[in-house]
Amino acid sequence: MFSFRLEVVVLRLEVAKLLNKKGSSMSFEFHEDIKEMDFGGDKLYFNKPLLVEGTATNVGSGILVRGIVDTEIKASCGRCLQPVNACVHEEFVEEYVRAGEAQESLEKDDVDQGEIHEYHGNTIGIRKEVIENVLVSIPMKILCDPDCRGICCRCGKDLNSGDCSCSEEGEINPKMSALKKWFDK
Ligand SMILES: [Zn+2]
Ligand SMILES: [Zn+2]
Repeated sequence: MFSFRLEVVVLRLEVAKLLNKKGSSMSFEFHEDIKEMDFGGDKLYFNKPLLVEGTATNVGSGILVRGIVDTEIKASCGRCLQPVNACVHEEFVEEYVRAGEAQESLEKDDVDQGEIHEYHGNTIGIRKEVIENVLVSIPMKILCDPDCRGICCRCGKDLNSGDCSCSEEGEINPKMSALKKWFDK
């Protein structure tokens, strides 16, 4: 699916101080300077650092991590290929249980289905979930404008900057010109 060049992005929470007390909570804030990311074969470029902030709370059954992901990316319009800036602002809520400590069978099912994530030791790595939140907030097809006219498939002209000669009357396909004759009567 997606491949990330994000080895440098750590996004780890040290939660040792939360572990012994249900209800205890800590806040976190990360600024990660990502330059680019592969997105289904296309490249996404980041105009701003990735901001991730939120809180981690011991809810008894595990650690509930709640926060927002905020950044701005530059991508290409899916129709005309012009660069487009798109804001990313997504909230996320994820629950983490310590590996091997999913107590009830219900939780075990949730772990298997990916609704609850496991962590090891005293550190929760939230990178994967954060990146998924960035990706889901990006429209499948980024457009510079909902009405973008795209590129002429014959001559390659960007039609947002004006009509090309391909769309002149002589180029109308025979069916259409028959219709046009009918309307012109
Ligand atoms: Zn466009
Ligand atoms: Zn054309």
